[in-house]
Amino acid sequence: RIAYVNGLYVPHAEAVVHVEDRGYQFADGVYEVCEVRGGHMVDERRHMERLVRSLNEIRIRQPMPLAALGVVLRETVRRNRVRNGFVYLQVTRGVARRDHYFPDPETPPSIVVTARAADPAKGEAVAAQGIAIITVPDNRWERVDIKTVGLLPNVLAKEAARQAGAREAWFVDRDGNVTEGGSTNAWIVTGDGKLVTRPAESGILRGITRTVMMEVAEKLQLRVEERAFTVKEALGAREAFVTSATNFATPVVRIDGQSIGDGKPGPVARALRENFHKVAEIAR
Ligand code: PMP
Repeated sequence: RIAYVNGLYVPHAEAVVHVEDRGYQFADGVYEVCEVRGGHMVDERRHMERLVRSLNEIRIRQPMPLAALGVVLRETVRRNRVRNGFVYLQVTRGVARRDHYFPDPETPPSIVVTARAADPAKGEAVAAQGIAIITVPDNRWERVDIKTVGLLPNVLAKEAARQAGAREAWFVDRDGNVTEGGSTNAWIVTGDGKLVTRPAESGILRGITRTVMMEVAEKLQLRVEERAFTVKEALGAREAFVTSATNFATPVVRIDGQSIGDGKPGPVARALRENFHKVAEIAR
């Protein structure tokens, strides 16, 4: 495997950043994960737009023009011979002596890109079964709209899920409303067939998959309501599911040990999953 690190393609096993990198010292950086399908990136444009937004929000300068970044992403995919899988991109505020204040503005941001293959059959098997999730208090900071590498609450929540025999954890805010998953957006389907997901204005990352699924829903003539929902409403929902670049739409069949709907993956989540790649942008 090959990784891109600050201008060089290096063997993955030797791909390192300095101990004084601000990503390492302060989680002072942002990232993106983009699906690779048939050797091509899925929704690259939207992921790059969100990257630029994340960088702007924390005032890291854009390390290179987006066209150049696109070349690096594609080259990393190519060198790793990834047909189906994911490409990961991380940008940090660079290497500087440990000090909370921003470093000298001349400090170049650090860029790392990795790519790896993933067997689509595995994801399909998981989706066919449906996943169990748990709920945990949302103890994150307010700026979860920024895709930062500061993911400790997400790490702890997902590990708690795994220890409980589940795959994902849904964060719940102080009002009892579900915000999102540890690495996914959260959705339910109401008794009258409406899709419900939390508005992206607060409490969640605006998932690219979430945005694209809204278009998929429209094509399938499903109604979408962007509003908050409680754990109680989710427990009584007809279906629940999660979305992300790595999960597309994956049905949730158990929440905190209680079955959702008939306890099997529902038709709405399945239809969204099946139609996702007809709507997602795949550059060739
Ligand atoms: N919320 C969180 C906290 C995430 O980490 C992710 C995945 N990066 C998502 C939502 C889903 O975003 P996307 O659809 O862009 O992968």
